[in-house]
Amino acid sequence: MSETPSIFSRIIAGEVPADIVYDSERVIAFKDINPQAPVHLLVVPKTEEYANVAELAAGDPALLAEIVTTAQKLAFEHMNGQYRLIFNTGRDAGQTVYHVHAHVLGGGLSEGSLAS
Ligand code: AMP
Repeated sequence: MSETPSIFSRIIAGEVPADIVYDSERVIAFKDINPQAPVHLLVVPKTEEYANVAELAAGDPALLAEIVTTAQKLAFEHMNGQYRLIFNTGRDAGQTVYHVHAHVLGGGLSEGSLAS
């Protein structure tokens, strides 16, 4: 079910190209290759130790907080500061990469829609 290293670790290592919009000691962010909104970014911890947001919350809450604050900062830089933050958890919820990541969607979303 999970690929090691994950596609995101390969982006972090520079082995796979990506449109990187943020890079810090513990977090990276880049444009989603298959955008589901006018702006669709992924915010990813550099460690692939955590498969999903609940594992991350339990294992390193400060890192989860950094992901959320990074999402907020990017939302002001790339959209109008209003955004949808999604952590898919499990295959039935659409998770395909088991290296925790936040989807930051914005730039004009349809009202009432819950889908990413
Ligand atoms: P999820 O389905 O929640 O696990 O999200 C994985 C996301 O990673 C999807 O939205 C994909 O479009 C995105 N993705 C997969 N490979 C790449 C890549 N090489 N560069 C950017 N985004 C990617």
